[in-house]
Amino acid sequence: MSRDEYYMNIAMAVRKKANCLGRKVGAVIVRENRIISTGYNGTPEGMVNCTDGGCVRCRDRATYQASVGYDVCICVHAEQNALITAARFGNAVEDAIVYSTLRPCFDCTKAMLQARVTSIHYLHNWHHPIGALQDQYELLQRSLRGGVHQVTMHDPEADWANAKLTPTPDQ
Ligand SMILES: [Zn+2]
Ligand SMILES: [Zn+2]
Repeated sequence: MSRDEYYMNIAMAVRKKANCLGRKVGAVIVRENRIISTGYNGTPEGMVNCTDGGCVRCRDRATYQASVGYDVCICVHAEQNALITAARFGNAVEDAIVYSTLRPCFDCTKAMLQARVTSIHYLHNWHHPIGALQDQYELLQRSLRGGVHQVTMHDPEADWANAKLTPTPDQ
């Protein structure tokens, strides 16, 4: 197993705890070949889980289509949770590598760029539905010094993780 596959397998394990009606994502931050932080996506601590209807944006897919409206989503993305956890425990992320089960969105890419994360390795692709913004997104991702790379490997839970809307139990 390659190093990329090793860390991506761990990111997939972290993803199991994701609590979002949308896609389920797991991320790990690696520095000097050590995992210094992990994160999965879901509502902030102490708030009603997205899977229990806690997030208006994720709940109302008639108004907010997939990949848009992240600014009003209360779910914290996996990559941002990993960065925030590192900050909380005082772990520097400069020159670190992020492994994420989904290609990081606009917001997560900006945060990683400014935190001086060196490169991103992702499993499933993500793109912005609006063409002009997709161009901007690619420009942003090209700014990472070590680049953005896809890790090609089997994901046994791809259908569950990539469902754009998971029905709530009472639906
Ligand atoms: Zn959500
Ligand atoms: Zn994101």
